[in-house]
Amino acid sequence: MMVRNFSAVVTHRLAELYSKLLPIPCFLCGDFSPHDALCKACVEDLPWLDHCCQRCALPLNESGICGQCLQHPPPQQSSLALFRYETPINHCIAAFKFHQQLVFAQLFAKLLAAKVNQRQQPLPEILIPIPLHPSRLRQRGYNQSAQLADALSQQLSIAVDKTNFIRRRNTTPQTGMSGKQRKRNVKQAFAVAKPLPYKHVALVDDVYTTGHTAAEASRCLQQNGVKTVEVWTIARAIRHY
Ligand SMILES: [Zn+2]
Ligand SMILES: [Zn+2]
Repeated sequence: MMVRNFSAVVTHRLAELYSKLLPIPCFLCGDFSPHDALCKACVEDLPWLDHCCQRCALPLNESGICGQCLQHPPPQQSSLALFRYETPINHCIAAFKFHQQLVFAQLFAKLLAAKVNQRQQPLPEILIPIPLHPSRLRQRGYNQSAQLADALSQQLSIAVDKTNFIRRRNTTPQTGMSGKQRKRNVKQAFAVAKPLPYKHVALVDDVYTTGHTAAEASRCLQQNGVKTVEVWTIARAIRHY
C-alpha cells in the first residue's frame, strides 16, 4: 500500500510538471494542443449544458427551476455544471479521476471560471471540494475535486478550504447504485473539523449524479453556519427513473 501510494503521488507530480512544460496531445483526437488536455475543436464538440435548472443543474429547454425542485427543493441554493454527463466527457472525467490525467483540472477550471463569471452574481467566499475519506485518498493518491478546486482558486482568486470539511464515513463507491442506495450510502457521510466561519460557499465536485452527495454535503455545511451553498460540477448526469 505504501509503495502504491508513493508511486501514485510521484506520477501525479510528474504529470503536473510535464503538462506545464510541454505541449500535450489532445486526450480525444491526439492533435497537439499547447498545454491543454483537449484541443479547441474537441472542447467545442463537448456536450455543453446550456439551459438548466438553477437549483439542481438538470438540463431544461430554458433556464429556470425544474418540476422536481419546485416540489422538493434541494438544500443547496444553486447548482452549476458545464456539460451533460455523456460521451465523451464521461471518458475525460474518468481519466481525470482514476488515471492521473490531472492536466484536465486546468481546462475544467478555466471553463468553469468563465461560466461562473458570466453570471455576474456575488462570488462565494471559499471553495470547498467534496472530500474523500482518508483511506480512499491514500489509495488513489489525490482527490480530483480538490485538484479542480485548487485550479479554480487560481482562476477566480477565491481561497480553498481542504481541511475543515471532512468525510467521516468511508462510503462505498456509488457506481451502479440506485438512487435510494446512494441516499443511504452518503447519509451523515460528512462533518466539519471545526466551526466554519463562512456564509457563502461553493462546493466543488466532478459529477452531479443523483444529487444525494451534493445535498448531504450542503446540509452539513448549512447545519454548521453556512447560509448559501452553491454546487459547482463539471458534468450533470440525467436521472432515469
Ligand atoms: Zn482534439
Ligand atoms: Zn432542479
